[in-house]
Amino acid sequence: MDKVCAVFGGSRGIGRAVAQLMAQKGYRLAIVSRNLEMARAAAGELGGDHLAFSCDVSKEQDIQNTFEEMEKRLGPVHFLVNAAGINRDSLLIRAKTEDMVSQLHTNLLGSMLTCKAAMKMMIQQGGSIVNVGSIIGLKGNVGQSVYSASKGGLVGFSRALAKEVARKKVRVNVVAPGFVRTDMTKHLKEEHLKKNIPLGRFGEAVEVAHAVVFLLESPYVTGHVLVVDGGLQLTM
Ligand code: NDP
Repeated sequence: MDKVCAVFGGSRGIGRAVAQLMAQKGYRLAIVSRNLEMARAAAGELGGDHLAFSCDVSKEQDIQNTFEEMEKRLGPVHFLVNAAGINRDSLLIRAKTEDMVSQLHTNLLGSMLTCKAAMKMMIQQGGSIVNVGSIIGLKGNVGQSVYSASKGGLVGFSRALAKEVARKKVRVNVVAPGFVRTDMTKHLKEEHLKKNIPLGRFGEAVEVAHAVVFLLESPYVTGHVLVVDGGLQLTM
């Protein structure tokens, strides 16, 4: 049976690019997002026998239901990618509490809960997890303190979990992208921002996806944070 890879946030952007590469490698995909139609479209374009699921990672019951359904329809999950994420940029002084909570629930708690749900299967059979962080979680940025906390928290979580489950042959890593051309960044002014990027441009989702797939498949790498940012961190 093909190994199963669940991609939360797989309907668009970075997660969708990861799903495309993993499908090309012959894995069976579970594409997860809140919008089921978008997840179905992403799963459909992969060809083959891939499935779509609707799940809001900020809701624990949704996550539990989704993992039960995935196990029933696809079997145990070997690879987990947490690419579901949101940003609500604002100076802290103007930040609405509801926006702070939704970023932490989606970006941090949501990933913790999918890891917890996956772990029940992975400690039996081994597995590999990649959480998508951000260079902002490592370096910080004006107007992104809460987003930065959610992504920085993901690094601490992933490194601790990597230690906790290594003996069970489960690996946990983080990819920390810089600016990547997706729906999340389409409102940004690339012309202006690219001046600070040594490689002189925003990244493409597939360029981040290659790093995610590398970590998913690298049997001797765990607890690592792989920065994929065109050198942006060198200037921050
Ligand atoms: P997109 O906005 O293109 O895609 C986000 C994906 O996450 C969609 O599939 C969306 O589907 C899903 N999603 C959002 N909220 C939830 C939720 N509550 N439950 C389930 N799924 C959800 O974003 P990107 O591809 O750009 O970002 C992917 C990850 O990479 C995010 O964690 C982001 O923070 C991170 N990142 C992105 C960077 C960039 O420059 N683009 C830079 C650094 C990090 P739906 O809306 O249907 O739920």
